[in-house]
Amino acid sequence: MILVFCELKDGKLRKPSTEALSEGRRLADAAGKPLGALFVGASTAGSADAAKYGADAVFTVEAPHLASYSSDAFAAAIAGAVQAKGATVLLGAASAMGKDALPRAAARLGAGYAGDVTALAMVDGKLQATRPVYAGKAFATTAFTSAVQVATTRPNVFAAAEKAGAGATEALEAPAGDFKAIVKEILAKGTGKPDLTEADVIVAGGRGMKSGENFALLEALADALGGVVGASRAAVDAGWGLSHGIQVGQTGKVVSPTLYIACGISGAIQHIAGMSSSKYIVAINKDPEAPIFKLANYGIVGDLFEVVPELTKAAQAMGIGVH
Ligand SMILES: Cc1cc2nc3c(=O)[nH]c(=O)nc-3n(C[C@H](O)[C@H](O)[C@H](O)COP(=O)(O)OP(=O)(O)OC[C@H]3O[C@@H](n4cnc5c(N)ncnc54)[C@H](O)[C@@H]3O)c2cc1C
Repeated sequence: MILVFCELKDGKLRKPSTEALSEGRRLADAAGKPLGALFVGASTAGSADAAKYGADAVFTVEAPHLASYSSDAFAAAIAGAVQAKGATVLLGAASAMGKDALPRAAARLGAGYAGDVTALAMVDGKLQATRPVYAGKAFATTAFTSAVQVATTRPNVFAAAEKAGAGATEALEAPAGDFKAIVKEILAKGTGKPDLTEADVIVAGGRGMKSGENFALLEALADALGGVVGASRAAVDAGWGLSHGIQVGQTGKVVSPTLYIACGISGAIQHIAGMSSSKYIVAINKDPEAPIFKLANYGIVGDLFEVVPELTKAAQAMGIGVH
């Protein structure tokens, strides 16, 4: 069986999980194996939706101590489910939760792990995973030698495809709640906007923005395009009051939106490591030699303080800003 660890937000399947499930379905078809969707939590209402993305079976692990995400408890629940169902492949999204839980589950299972993969294939019944290495400069394809193979899929890279599956639900036993640490409550800072890793459009600013207040220009463009704002590390570290949560790059978030607009960002390798898999990259920079132009699909050589407001006006006129 191929098992996909799925995440719910407000009772709805998160988009990166629909992508992991769809890829799981494709691999399951290639290998002639069934596809299972796995949900962990105090309540897993909404899990039945996994059947819309091809799950033959939906497994739930419910317990009060699983109400908030805890590394140990979730890893134990996931590893337990893999063993209970005899799954040989475990997938999940390379979200903050997936990147934390799945390597831990893999360690418990003595399984190989490939993180943040951008392509998967079944070769002679075994999983092969391709992922960017050296800050996105090259791709490495990894083959597994372990019996159980674990991988996380980079959000926005795999297509989510609806396909009806049987989706019979089965409740599995939860691990006992005697863990060293259990998270009781998470108070999220709700912005009402999608997370950077799930956003379709990102408007990012760098040191060229000159101040935190000037990020209002990027907010306006992002709103007009239905996107969210990101930043380079130089901007986040400048003491402009920007949250580290919006940093894109090697030590920030890895994003793959359809459209990435880099404003006043030079294109350092550590920044590119976080956004090079974006579908369309637009760079606005006053320096025609800025390295970001080598990567960009569209480049605008100019002063961002003139260009960005013009783009915002044009986007507003087109009326495309919907969240
Ligand atoms: C271990 C390590 C990890 C790192 N991790 C990250 C990371 O995760 N993310 C990250 O981003 N960086 C990271 N960095 C830092 C990285 O090396 C760069 O220093 C950083 O990305 C530079 O940010 P920047 O492009 O905003 O600034 P700069 O390189 O200073 O570029 C500013 C750009 O703005 C342009 N500009 C200025 N004014 C205007 C204007 N009015 N109109 C248009 N353009 C203008 C300039 O021409 C210039 O190209 C890391 C570095 C190290 C060593």
